[in-house]
Amino acid sequence: MNKTVRVRFAPSPTGALHIGGVRTALYNYLLAHQHKGQFIVRIEDTDQTRFVAGAEQYIMEALAWLGLQPDESPLAGGSFAPYRQSDRKPLYRQYAEQLVKNGKAYYAFDTEEELKQLRADEEAKGNKGFRYNAYAAYPFRNSVNLSAQETQELLAQNLPYVIRLRVAPHEIIAFDDLIRGHVQYNSNELDDKVLLKSDGMPTYHLANVVDDYLMQISHVIRGEEWLPSTPTHVLLYRGFGWQESMPQFAHLPLILRPDGKGKLSKRDGAKFGIPVFPLDFVLPNVEGDDAFIKGFREWGFEPAAVLNFLALQGWSNNDNREFFTLDELISHFKIENITKAGTRFDFDKAKWFNQQYLMKYDNAVLAAKIRPFLPADLQAQHDDNYLAKVANALKERVYFLADYYNEGKYFFHLPDFEHKDLQAKLAKETNEGKKRDLSNALKTNQDNIKKLVERYPDLKAAFVELIAGIGETADFTETHLHDLVMEFIQKHQLKTKEVLAFLRLALSGQMQGTSVFEMMAIFGKTETLHRLQHFANYLAK
Ligand code: GLU
Repeated sequence: MNKTVRVRFAPSPTGALHIGGVRTALYNYLLAHQHKGQFIVRIEDTDQTRFVAGAEQYIMEALAWLGLQPDESPLAGGSFAPYRQSDRKPLYRQYAEQLVKNGKAYYAFDTEEELKQLRADEEAKGNKGFRYNAYAAYPFRNSVNLSAQETQELLAQNLPYVIRLRVAPHEIIAFDDLIRGHVQYNSNELDDKVLLKSDGMPTYHLANVVDDYLMQISHVIRGEEWLPSTPTHVLLYRGFGWQESMPQFAHLPLILRPDGKGKLSKRDGAKFGIPVFPLDFVLPNVEGDDAFIKGFREWGFEPAAVLNFLALQGWSNNDNREFFTLDELISHFKIENITKAGTRFDFDKAKWFNQQYLMKYDNAVLAAKIRPFLPADLQAQHDDNYLAKVANALKERVYFLADYYNEGKYFFHLPDFEHKDLQAKLAKETNEGKKRDLSNALKTNQDNIKKLVERYPDLKAAFVELIAGIGETADFTETHLHDLVMEFIQKHQLKTKEVLAFLRLALSGQMQGTSVFEMMAIFGKTETLHRLQHFANYLAK
């Protein structure tokens, strides 16, 4: 590649950035960095009707959170500024006029009502493929159909007009896409797209091509939904005589819903309970009650895990390698290895990546990361050393930082065998007349304990002796505790599984979780004895 690689991510600020957009930004970023080129963010806000206040800021914040810093952008500036199309508005008219001058575009004076009527008339005649094409025999009021003099008169009257691209019929428009290969369209399928609107605002097509040219963009990497716009863009490059500078195109496959049925949409987040935005977002609902959607950041994802996951949603290194840091992605990324087929959004994989990334941290680092997720009083009670041990015990079981507390409450609270919390909740909900029945959950919990005690009546008595034995030992390592309990089991000819279940329940109030000996070692002697005694007291009641 001898041309400097300059790529752009060109979002329209019409709402929150969708995760598919993030992937587009990532692939652009990777190519730019691989070739020591530039990654540009250009805001395409020419469609004022779809403009959403705050969307641009959201996009920039999301990219910053992920660490995809642009080299040039509305915020960072750059030698091709401005990078927001509304700030470039005065620039576009001359280009549209240039095309009119060389016969590649024309003025069109048709009002919306006239076009609507014409379409209705055509449809009534059975013509379903009505398009605006200057060559078609429709009574359009444009400078192709009108004489030069008539056109001048209308312009002199200040009649509103748009400028449209003139698409010649029966022409094959072909280009090579770096992902899709050779692509061709017949110009008969295209309509004469508006380039400049009557208020002087360019449309997406004009602004996009003019800016890619002026900003010396080498590659256009964007979503597949823009493929049908590309022949129009190719015609624009030809019309301007910019063929030599035309960027290479790469159209990315769609990200599909987890069930594979269609494109992953904004609303799928709410439907499937998965994040489809990088940051949290309020989705305006047609019914009026806005839906709050948690983003990847708020779910507790590590930015590096999100990037690694997204990189593989449509690209692979052509081997089974799964882990890539951003730097490794930069060196391994190849446009040729992007798939053509749409890829299903695999949220379980995203969670798995997050777990793997959390597991890579030292326990001490993890301790510092999970601290903010604990209630304030618990943060004060436990030192980093304790949190590091808890982190180590739980890390294969949890996916997110918040889970260390949610899944590991027993490390921070004495088990509540009477389930006071659940009882209180039950009383409250019954009072409020709620339908949800917590009494079952309560019953199950208490039944579990009862069953265990009934099944092993001998254990209840032996338990007191075990507590005493544990109380006498000074060595609170996992291995020693293991040997001590095993000796006790042998002596009383008990079943290992049963004793361990009993101990686990006593220590954590749970039927499953961290290994019993690891738990004891983490708690230390005082807390272990306290918990065992607490359980013994409960049984004695
Ligand atoms: N503004 C378009 C969008 O919202 C950009 C498409 C392109 O990259 O050309 O995605």
